[in-house]
Amino acid sequence: MKKIYTKWNILDYIFFIMDQLVNLAIEYKTEPDVECMIEAETKYLKAENNSLKELQYPKKVIKDERNYCCPNSKCKKEISSVLIEKYKIKFCPECGQRIYYLTTSRRVDNEAEECQRLSS
Ligand SMILES: [Zn+2]
Repeated sequence: MKKIYTKWNILDYIFFIMDQLVNLAIEYKTEPDVECMIEAETKYLKAENNSLKELQYPKKVIKDERNYCCPNSKCKKEISSVLIEKYKIKFCPECGQRIYYLTTSRRVDNEAEECQRLSS
């Protein structure tokens, strides 16, 4: 604490010191607790990590007649059939959900392979 007072009486000096002490106490109380901040940040990062892991489990694309939709319950955005059928995308372009879609031709191929495997 600097001595900025000059020619003050003792009462002014006492008030000044008390004011400084109160200000220090207020600063000390309002300062955020570092442990709490670290704990809160860790909790947030764990939750974010878990949500990102959930996106890594592939889910089957929802198909209604002509439209394809993202299987993620939070997204549900329509995905272009060109992206699914021609480019065979593996992730939702909106949310990054891992997706899969079995076309009928692939199913036929799988069945043909299975018939060959069983017959041999
Ligand atoms: Zn999505």
